[in-house]
Amino acid sequence: MTAREYFYRILVPEHTGKSYQAAHQYDRAELAKRSSVGMPPEQYEQIIEMAIRHVPCRSNDVLLERWIEELIQLVPDDLKARLKKMFVAKLRDFEANAAAICDASCDGDLIFFNVGLSDACYQYAIVYYEFVRVFGDQFAPDDTGRIVRLKAELYDHLAQLAIAQKRWDRLGVVEFEVKDVVNSSLEIEGHPANIAGLADKFILRHEISHHLLGHTETGAQLLSYVDNLPEHCKYWKTVVQKAHQQEYEADASALTMTLQTQSLDVVTRRQREFDVVVGALLTLTVLGQLVREVNEATPSHPSVSSRFDQCVEILRSVCQHEIRALVYLMKQFQVLLWSTQGKGLGHRWSGAKIRL
Ligand SMILES: [Zn+2]
Repeated sequence: MTAREYFYRILVPEHTGKSYQAAHQYDRAELAKRSSVGMPPEQYEQIIEMAIRHVPCRSNDVLLERWIEELIQLVPDDLKARLKKMFVAKLRDFEANAAAICDASCDGDLIFFNVGLSDACYQYAIVYYEFVRVFGDQFAPDDTGRIVRLKAELYDHLAQLAIAQKRWDRLGVVEFEVKDVVNSSLEIEGHPANIAGLADKFILRHEISHHLLGHTETGAQLLSYVDNLPEHCKYWKTVVQKAHQQEYEADASALTMTLQTQSLDVVTRRQREFDVVVGALLTLTVLGQLVREVNEATPSHPSVSSRFDQCVEILRSVCQHEIRALVYLMKQFQVLLWSTQGKGLGHRWSGAKIRL
């Protein structure tokens, strides 16, 4: 039985052959009316229609399907065959997590992708983009009015997100209410969606890596591209808990699996590195806002602080282009989140000189 057959036959027979959006009976007209992405309702309706009509092959979600296709193109040949047998199931679970599942009767890897973390990443991506636009850009002196307007928008959204985050903390899940949704203005439409996509890709690659690294079956073996990293990047060698070792390894693999190709032209390589850096660091930034305490490990996961540190070490080591500015901006963004939410990775850098 393929992973897709296993998902539809065994786990959700009532959804057989349906896309995530069709299975959950998305109402096109209603969603278009409430659209917050700043595009004309007819255009938004068409996008939802496309998601509903999607015929699941590698995923029940049209975007995840596109990303796994893209990943198959980007990885070396030995990984392609394995990826082609995977099925990624988007689930209406608001837990801020994803999972890799293995069952003996299933010839292929199954991955569960919960909407909670992905939805949170999208909201944080909007605010991150607004932050970069205000603090990362060089403005001309006559742009003062524009800066004031952009800053006001950014701080409004930060406050809105802080209120939503407080409720998610109380509930223990990321569940949206209409008042939580940060509306991105027409001017920035598209950019946050792209950035959120980079975070989703990191989450997806992390889960895929659990399968590739043998964490979901016996006889785990490290893949050479993870094993060949410099020793100081291998945080899994510093802990004894198996679950923690596997999380560090999956992060390392998620970062490096598409950066192995050496023969890329400079522009492609730079873009690929940018995508990996922003996707990984934003995901860990959001996880830092979702957990109770960033320096605390749980039985299943090492602390978010240490995962962030390992990611930065690995990226510094494998990226051929300068990533200091990207790391610096992300830490500054964390400081801003810390100042509005009183939690997250930002407390590590607030008041201190940020190490580049
Ligand atoms: Zn994991």
